[in-house]
Amino acid sequence: MITSPVFSGQFYAVLGLARSGMATVAALLASDAKVMAWDNNPKTCDRLQQQYQEAIDKGRLVIADPMIADIFGISAFVVSPGIPINRHPIAALAKERGIPIIGDIELFAQAHGFWERHGRRCPVVGITGTNGKSTTTALIHHILEEAGIPTLMGGNIGLPLLAADPLPDGGVYVLELSSYQIDLTFTLDCDIAVLTNITPDHLDRHGGFEGYRKAKERLFLLQSSPHYAVIATDDIPSQVIAKQSAAHLVTVHADNISAEDQINWSNLQGPHNAQNAVLAIAVAHILGISDDIISKALVSYRGLPHRMQKIGERRGVLFIDDSKATNAMATAPALAAFPAIHWILGGVPKTADLDPCKAFYNHIRQAYTIGQAGPDYAQLLREAGVKVVECGTLEKAVRLAAEEAQPDEVVMLTPACASFDQFSDYEARGEAFKKIVEALD
Ligand code: ADP
Repeated sequence: MITSPVFSGQFYAVLGLARSGMATVAALLASDAKVMAWDNNPKTCDRLQQQYQEAIDKGRLVIADPMIADIFGISAFVVSPGIPINRHPIAALAKERGIPIIGDIELFAQAHGFWERHGRRCPVVGITGTNGKSTTTALIHHILEEAGIPTLMGGNIGLPLLAADPLPDGGVYVLELSSYQIDLTFTLDCDIAVLTNITPDHLDRHGGFEGYRKAKERLFLLQSSPHYAVIATDDIPSQVIAKQSAAHLVTVHADNISAEDQINWSNLQGPHNAQNAVLAIAVAHILGISDDIISKALVSYRGLPHRMQKIGERRGVLFIDDSKATNAMATAPALAAFPAIHWILGGVPKTADLDPCKAFYNHIRQAYTIGQAGPDYAQLLREAGVKVVECGTLEKAVRLAAEEAQPDEVVMLTPACASFDQFSDYEARGEAFKKIVEALD
């Protein structure tokens, strides 16, 4: 667990007690801080009470809603990135009392700052962007492991950061950072900050595209000049951020990767993965890792679930789970990667159009729409001359696609939409896809 003398004697209100909230409470109590903790789910609060009865008895932990409890002496609200701080009443309360709203990454940054001031050097690589964050994060982490460098992957990916044991001197933290997490972070000066790309996403939360771009930009504005910014300047908003950066700027492009090299990276196929790979290679070079180790790591990288993951083959038809593609920009490269696709798409739409996918409509044998976006997207595709069946449910879509697909064609779930209308998250959607495929006769 990550503890720090900088938290000692402070009083924090932790709001939202899912995995990272629980880890935050544990880390703060172990650092001799006082904590007020709250979750709207009473069962979660009960669980906390059972776990920390001793701290409650000693007055070090209070389970109370900071919106109504006495918050005198609170030094920060620590909120989960899932809480929409642009709409939640905590924002007004924090403003009125002049109390900062932070997240667990900010607590990590403060602990990390303390280590640095006391001579422990552990570089931090922070990765953000609209698409490709997890892949780039996992790939950098994998290269570091192959190089024998102690490393920890955290943030949006993997275990809650504060629950992990701190790295020894010289270890490298690799953090995937969503725009929500950056909004809650104020002192993280990444040794290397990485930007994959920026396209419209999460616009409701950030009050439009400019707000969303600015949220990502902050990660780079927080950097001090001796540090590095590694930016894929393949899109205009990323070029704008590159111009603002005060750090050593390294710009890369997906087409810096040659087709001959990429052919050997079996789990990094498609133009989007060329972008992820070129970023990871640039970071590895800055960290002083040799070309030989990097080359081997790109070949041995195993990939992440639900990102263009091959889940089965049936009568010569390949089934691919790309459930993580929750917007049209993420779906487009998946469509680019195969010539004959039965495309399952739909869910909660992020955009009214599917424009980034248009260039690959000639790869689509037939589309199968599901969920909320189904009727509108079906109409759009029909107008563009793509054959479509409106299926409503994933089950119906998979069954029909499996019947229609010919040998050497692929059935791919790459929905270009969020999942929340029919599934708890993209992982549940991907698991459901896998089960339906496995049950096909
Ligand atoms: P994130 O963590 O940013 O959501 P992931 O690596 O999990 O990114 O990939 C999410 C989806 O986006 C996958 O379906 C993948 O096919 C697609 N994708 C991955 N990398 C990129 C990229 N660099 N550009 C566009 N789409 C990408």
